[in-house]
Amino acid sequence: MMVLTKKMIEIRNILARVGQTSALTLPSIVVIGSQSSGKSSVLEAIVGHEFLPKGLNMVTRRPIELTLINTPESKTEYGEFPDLGLGKITDFSSIQRTLTELNQAVPDAQCVSDDPIRLSISSPNVPDLSLIDLPGYIQVVGQNQPLELKQKISELCDKYIQPPNIILAISAADVDLANSAALRASRRVDPRGERTIGVVTKMDLVDPIRGMEVLTDRQYPLRLGYVGVVTRAPSTATILFKKGNSNLSSAIIKNENAFFSAHPLEFGPQAEVQVGTSTLKKKLMHVLEQTMSASLTGTSDAIRQELEEATYEFKVQYNDRPLSAESYLAESLDAFKHSFKQFAEEFGRPQMHELLKNELDQRVLDLLAARYWNKPIHDLSIPPPEIDNLVDLPTADPDSPYWRRQLDASTSALTKLGVGRLATNVVANAIQSHIDQLISQSTFVNHPFARQAITEAASSILNERFYSTSDQVENCIKPYKFDIDMEEREWSTGRDHVQGVLKKELTACEGAMTSLESAVGGRRKLREVMNFVDKARKGDILIEGETRSGAGGFSAALLAKGREAIFLRDRADIIKMRLYAVKSKQCATMKNKYACPEVFLDAVASKLAGTAVLFLNVELLSEFYYNFPRELDLRLGRHLADDEVERFAKEDPKIRRHLDVIRRKELLQLVLDKMESLRQIEGAASSGAVGG
Ligand code: GDP
Repeated sequence: MMVLTKKMIEIRNILARVGQTSALTLPSIVVIGSQSSGKSSVLEAIVGHEFLPKGLNMVTRRPIELTLINTPESKTEYGEFPDLGLGKITDFSSIQRTLTELNQAVPDAQCVSDDPIRLSISSPNVPDLSLIDLPGYIQVVGQNQPLELKQKISELCDKYIQPPNIILAISAADVDLANSAALRASRRVDPRGERTIGVVTKMDLVDPIRGMEVLTDRQYPLRLGYVGVVTRAPSTATILFKKGNSNLSSAIIKNENAFFSAHPLEFGPQAEVQVGTSTLKKKLMHVLEQTMSASLTGTSDAIRQELEEATYEFKVQYNDRPLSAESYLAESLDAFKHSFKQFAEEFGRPQMHELLKNELDQRVLDLLAARYWNKPIHDLSIPPPEIDNLVDLPTADPDSPYWRRQLDASTSALTKLGVGRLATNVVANAIQSHIDQLISQSTFVNHPFARQAITEAASSILNERFYSTSDQVENCIKPYKFDIDMEEREWSTGRDHVQGVLKKELTACEGAMTSLESAVGGRRKLREVMNFVDKARKGDILIEGETRSGAGGFSAALLAKGREAIFLRDRADIIKMRLYAVKSKQCATMKNKYACPEVFLDAVASKLAGTAVLFLNVELLSEFYYNFPRELDLRLGRHLADDEVERFAKEDPKIRRHLDVIRRKELLQLVLDKMESLRQIEGAASSGAVGG
């Protein structure tokens, strides 16, 4: 029959994972008693080891759900905290430390927590039992203890001593049973004394006759009776067993037996009292089994009903769609890899070239502004149509060393600006931001863990390749640092392209101008300020005593805006003029390259981009395309532990609910099957009993 309790305890633990509704729980034995009644000693005598928190002022603050598992074939004894994942702990003092820490972690303000600590102990010396150790009732609130502690402990105990649980009420023999907090509490919830076992500790502290009287108490009659125990180990044994892991029970039992057998009249077989830890153990096993089997039918029915509800919810809400954390992750990962593959097909050399060229265009513009456009060429306030008539469009005599130097210096600045780093950076950033975009369009968007894993997968590959790629690229463009060999075809492509660049820049200037106008309150206003600043600059008027508050009736802020507008206007004028020059016959061929630095530099930039892209493609892009899916597998694939996969899937609340209902259904079904087979065993056993 012991199989039954073991299996029921197993079922009880599965049910605890389903989620606690009282109808769904199988009975357990709850241990209550006043502080110092000897509650811990009784539990430790049953387990055979010291493992409970001790010490002055050490109040148990959380229930301990203790599952004892009898392992007759095994020699080793160990404990496990299923919620902590610490593995098997064979050192019981380490279990004691862990329990102490868990206890101390409950904040004082909270007094006690009803979140149980789950602990299972496997040993060949323990019976199969399910026990819940509750905080001891306190009579007087100690110093440094919150005032409500007493009340809170009592409330917590009340929660647990409800049916179908069995109450193990611990009282000390040297205290009048009428004053036993445990018995009083049991009375309230079990007035007929049907599911309470009385344990009277410290039998050695009272006169044996008095002890016998206590055990046959008629004031609080209990159907399951009282058991008297002496659970204090002989002091030498305590010291001995604290150090080792050897069994404490035998020492206690020896001591206990010695005591009880010394008083055969009071405690012997004729006395009709129950005494001893062994008797208590047997009683507990027996009572638990009876209670569990009595609740088998009721609990089965409750589970069946719960299962029906879960099944219905699964059908209605989730259309019976199966899902597991692993399949969800695998599908999400596949979809993500698929979208990545699409991206890889669309992002190649032409796209890299364009990105890089855009970046270099900016550098070219900066160089032009610094080397060519900053000179006061002439009065550029002539309106555009008249630019056509400009005679002194700079012609830049090709024999002039000045213009040669200008172009050489500009070209050299361009080729030496660190194209390797720049190009690698541009492409790496583009890849990274494309990956971010892919994430945001994928199911992973709701999964911080996966998002980070993917981002890191990408950046780890890119970072790893970064320096070697930029070095490679830099090496490959090295020849351009010494000599630029250009063909007419390249020249004319550059000439076409740079016009677009200049036009875009012009538009940007005009856009900036428009926003300035609206910032100062209209075009006219801006013109006025500009005129003032212009005149002041030409020396027609002096901004005498321009102070922080401004000049000429304009505030300092307005004057600053005026200067900005003038800069924009001048830049736009120069660009217009240069655009005109680029379009003109003068820039049609490479012959006049000194007069057309815009075209020349654009063509150089194209060469740089083209060469850089060739190597970026091999060194960075192809490598990335090859490694990224593998890196994803490493970080999100089969290598993840089950609980990590579970945690990942549950980050999405929708998936979490879906998974929960499936799991609930599975667990309930599992429990139901187990219970059915138990009922069959039961049935067979009882019909066998009838037959025999
Ligand atoms: P708890 O606070 O209810 O858990 O009580 P403990 O198990 O810590 O016991 C309180 C004190 O009573 C300790 O000093 C124990 O050594 C002592 N004690 C426990 N059981 C017995 C017993 O059977 N006989 C005697 N003499 N002392 C006991």
